[in-house]
Amino acid sequence: TMEFTDRVTRVEPSATLAISALATELEADGADVVDLSVGEPDFPTPRNIVDAGQEAMDAGHTGYTTSAGILALREAISEKLADDGLDRGTDEIIVTPGAKQALYEIVSSLVQDGDEVVLLDPAWVSYEAMVKMAGGSLSRVDLSPHDFQLEPARDELEEAVSADTELLIVNSPSNPTGAVYSDAALEGVRDLAVEHDVTVISDEIYKEITYGVEPTSLGTLDGMADRTVTVNGFSKAYSMTGWRLGYFAGPSELIDQAGKLHSHSVSSAVNFVQHAGIEALENTDEAVAEMVEAFEGRRDLVVDLLADHGVDVAVPDGAFYMMLPVGDDDQAWCEGAIEDAHVATVPGSAFGTPGYARISYAASEERLEEGIERLVAEGYL
Ligand code: PLP
Repeated sequence: TMEFTDRVTRVEPSATLAISALATELEADGADVVDLSVGEPDFPTPRNIVDAGQEAMDAGHTGYTTSAGILALREAISEKLADDGLDRGTDEIIVTPGAKQALYEIVSSLVQDGDEVVLLDPAWVSYEAMVKMAGGSLSRVDLSPHDFQLEPARDELEEAVSADTELLIVNSPSNPTGAVYSDAALEGVRDLAVEHDVTVISDEIYKEITYGVEPTSLGTLDGMADRTVTVNGFSKAYSMTGWRLGYFAGPSELIDQAGKLHSHSVSSAVNFVQHAGIEALENTDEAVAEMVEAFEGRRDLVVDLLADHGVDVAVPDGAFYMMLPVGDDDQAWCEGAIEDAHVATVPGSAFGTPGYARISYAASEERLEEGIERLVAEGYL
């Protein structure tokens, strides 16, 4: 028999799997499932990006690249970061197969047995798994009593950060809440990070998807340049989930260490995909604006429909998710909703916050209306 490492055995399989398994089973039986559980845009990748990828393949960009990524893409990323107010040169950037790989490399480089990592709950499911695989422990701040905002949770955050804290992960706009944290909240993070000498990951993968607010990039705050690792990717803003392209930018000492992990594991991101990434960053503003406008219309639609049925939600300012209050047993609510109403959502407990279900509104208006009608008809709203 095989003997498995603590590293893998201490990680639980994703709680979202139960829901997708149910959805797949129902669909196999011929049911029409309204899937509001997905974490990806429902738009095709913009045409110019697809063309750029194809042209790069035709031009023979099919071999290995420099481990950190082709220089032209790192230059385009450096310029994008400069637009966000961040000063990162091409040697302070590593291009990865997806932001998830970037986060994995950063966490693995910074966290080991005995290190504590602070998460803001509800938090994206993989942060916890990555920290546990690295041997770290978690200190969690529950933002649910504060409409998922960080500023009013200042005292709780202060309690959660201690001398044992190695790393704090901030994700704004947030998956799963859609919350965008205020400048005052980020300044609070900065003050604690400086006081306790903590490194901060700023996961900005939804930064381009906001509605009337302009999120501040954490690394731009005074005192944060040397202790912030900025993570971003192409999956959400450019609807490129399957291309697997992301990056991180941070102090060169981290880039040197994480770069070893990167080169000995993935080698590099895919060559022609990196070329498509340049096109995405340089020539896709209009398509992104159109997708964001569509998401905003859907957000408004869902918030209004829920209000019509007496359900108030914390209105998200970004990403394409919102948290629906569903009572204590969110797992049972989500299982029931999919079995009875054929509407798939993700239980809040998967993100560390029971009592809610995450709705993704990356679905057409017709499907969103249909989903809510069914939840009402089956008594779930
Ligand atoms: N970070 C957050 C908060 C996410 O929601 C996701 C995807 O769901 C990722 C990172 C990883 O995205 P990718 O690996 O597709 O770039």
